[in-house]
Amino acid sequence: MTTFVLATHNAHKVDELRRILGERLGHHQLIGYDGPEPVEDAETFEGNALIKARAAAVFTGLPAIADDSGIAVDALGGAPGIHSARYAQLLTGSCRDDGDNLRLLLANLQGVVDRAAQFVCAAALVDVAAVDAGSPFEHTERGTWPGSVLEAPAGGGGFGYDPIFRPDGLDVSSAQLTADEKNAQSHRAIAFGLLITKLRKRYG
Ligand code: IMP
Repeated sequence: MTTFVLATHNAHKVDELRRILGERLGHHQLIGYDGPEPVEDAETFEGNALIKARAAAVFTGLPAIADDSGIAVDALGGAPGIHSARYAQLLTGSCRDDGDNLRLLLANLQGVVDRAAQFVCAAALVDVAAVDAGSPFEHTERGTWPGSVLEAPAGGGGFGYDPIFRPDGLDVSSAQLTADEKNAQSHRAIAFGLLITKLRKRYG
């Protein structure tokens, strides 16, 4: 049995990840993290997920799991992308909540016909105790969830940009899905599904 630390302070993500990882962790244990939060200054989802996992692994000494995620809109050249959580803050200097990010994205897409977008998630596993050839063990996986940005918010579930994201093949927003429905197909479910396979190969 190995104890892993989940390197996120976002309560919604902790909840989703616990549901996604749940039974698939087998006999392993997952604990929360309340140590220092590092500056996420990488230029990729994978880079930022590794920064978060490394910080938690170094702070706790435990193998750490982290994710970095966001929404990438084709018509905006992939923005807000890695800046999804701070989109309104970066562009307007003010962000009270997720609603401000969502409203800004809708405003920036006003009149845009091609609204294709995808949720992206990079999942990282870092084990500083498992030094191999001088480097700690590090691994990342990526999941993407293709869809499009709606004209107006719909639904009260999920978090972040869920009310304005319509997954391909569905007539509802991801905020109108149940937690189980979202977790069966989301970018986070795909990335962590791949990561858990790697983790189980390594830790049993
Ligand atoms: P992170 O905590 O730095 O990974 O920030 C991710 C940001 O992307 C969140 O604050 C959300 O705004 C957005 N995001 C990521 N995943 C989702 C999702 O599943 N639904 C809605 N928004 C998401």
